[in-house]
Amino acid sequence: MVPGARLVILGKQGAGKGTQCVRLSRHYIVPHISTGDIFRAAVKAGTEFGEKAREYMDDGDLIPDEVVIGVVTERLDRDDTKNRGFILDGFPRTVVQADALDEMLKPRAIDVAVNVEVPTEVVLSRLAGRRVCEDCGANYSVERPPKENWTCDVCGGEVVQREDDIEAAIERRLKHYEEQTEPLLVWFEKREKLLPVSGVGHPDEVTARLIRAIDVYREQRV
Ligand SMILES: [Zn+2]
Repeated sequence: MVPGARLVILGKQGAGKGTQCVRLSRHYIVPHISTGDIFRAAVKAGTEFGEKAREYMDDGDLIPDEVVIGVVTERLDRDDTKNRGFILDGFPRTVVQADALDEMLKPRAIDVAVNVEVPTEVVLSRLAGRRVCEDCGANYSVERPPKENWTCDVCGGEVVQREDDIEAAIERRLKHYEEQTEPLLVWFEKREKLLPVSGVGHPDEVTARLIRAIDVYREQRV
């Protein structure tokens, strides 16, 4: 039986992190907790929290630590994550959030934080071609469109380019990401919890590489 996992997945937008998180979540049979998905769902539902989240996202700004921490604390408190673990995607994004996660999980820390590494120029071209279903969030791209005229294969919704995938927003986001993530990488490294893995290549290849690296890392620490 495949053991559960307690993983943080890091990587700039466009590194293929979302796709890999879904695959890892199936492999280890643990929930994929994406703060981006949670926020987008709240925006779509038009909740009070969603309205606030929308303002930050429209400006290309990051949502404040205390808001994000509150959302994740609530999610990690459910039975599914307590039993088998989780794949955290989009959290932590700052050192303050990493400290908060450490507190939340006590006494059992994460297994490891995997950093999916892809060069910036590769990321830029991937992001510019990315398309997403407005309704269910399924991912497509210019190279891999849905079967019929930008209509979602999964739910029939309209497949579009997200507003935050236009170039100026992408560049702003990548800059934010690098500035904020550098200290976070140092934070995990100091605790010997950082595992860099190349995200370049076919998604299947990357998945296999990630699972191998995670399993080897965990075997060495048992
Ligand atoms: Zn859809």
